[in-house]
Amino acid sequence: MAANIAFDSSEFQKWIKQWKAVFITRIALLPSVTLEAKHLHKYFLQKASNEQTCSSDHGHISDRIPILCRYNEKLRNEINAIHKRKKPSWRNASTDTWRDSPFAVAKLFMQPSGYVDTFSFDGIDFNGLRAFIYNCGRFTLIVENLSDEARKYVNKIRHMPAVCLSALTDQATVECIDSMDAVLNDPSFDGDPEVLEARKQLDELKTVIAEPNADILKYIIEDIAIRGVQEITELASAEEDEWSENRSEIKGAIEKLGGILMSSLEEQGGSAIYDIKATFENALAQLDSSIDNPKKIIIETTEEGIPKLTATGQSERLEIEEATLRGYRELEETRTTGS
Ligand SMILES: [Zn+2]
Repeated sequence: MAANIAFDSSEFQKWIKQWKAVFITRIALLPSVTLEAKHLHKYFLQKASNEQTCSSDHGHISDRIPILCRYNEKLRNEINAIHKRKKPSWRNASTDTWRDSPFAVAKLFMQPSGYVDTFSFDGIDFNGLRAFIYNCGRFTLIVENLSDEARKYVNKIRHMPAVCLSALTDQATVECIDSMDAVLNDPSFDGDPEVLEARKQLDELKTVIAEPNADILKYIIEDIAIRGVQEITELASAEEDEWSENRSEIKGAIEKLGGILMSSLEEQGGSAIYDIKATFENALAQLDSSIDNPKKIIIETTEEGIPKLTATGQSERLEIEEATLRGYRELEETRTTGS
């Protein structure tokens, strides 16, 4: 385990500075992302407008298994058709939310874990917004690629400062800020007042000392907790042994990081510490629930055949999907013939 680094060290300062760049950019992207989520939702509802609307929860959804509801099946098929890469994250939002919530539908375009208990864009980290931008088909290819580049910088700092020192040089910090600025500089966001303000802040950030204030620390804790949940879920869907070995390590790292960040705030004093503590406890609870529900995650991911099967080849995946589909049909036939 790497040693801690001091709060007043230049590396810690650069770490905070890069997080601040991510934080600023994320806030600036929110209005556009929210608007495009609304447009996208409207498009889906339009496509299903010939069917009787329904807001029932039809349980587990996958790419191909029939849904016994024409409305939600239509929505599912349209969402599938629009999703640009990989596949929708059906576990993120159940069908009872699809008709009324643009945000719930937007979550289907984000990472397959970490967002189940999130109910507005305010709770979505930069990488979640990036996934929506990347997959929803409503942004230009250039914005998709720029946001994906920016994500790589976020991934580099999603660890304790002491374990990502190579990303904490002056040059890496400028590159991170420039990468965030490049996203906002795209003509798609022209004239957006939030974006103009954010670009000004990013420019200033290059020369000022970034103080670790309460907002930024809360954001870091939330972001790293989401990453933790995603890592645990990925491990759970891969190898169970490997997963149980690593999960406590992931939680331990986050606990340690939370401790470090809170003590950095304690040094500054102030009442914000209670707020941060609540955020941190909430983050740990989220992690615990992702650790407590390994079976559910394993069953669902196996049923959906991801992501292991994508690596084993297309034909094998199709075979399994067909078999599941057949199984469901047979089950349905048994039911309807009354046996
Ligand atoms: Zn229905």
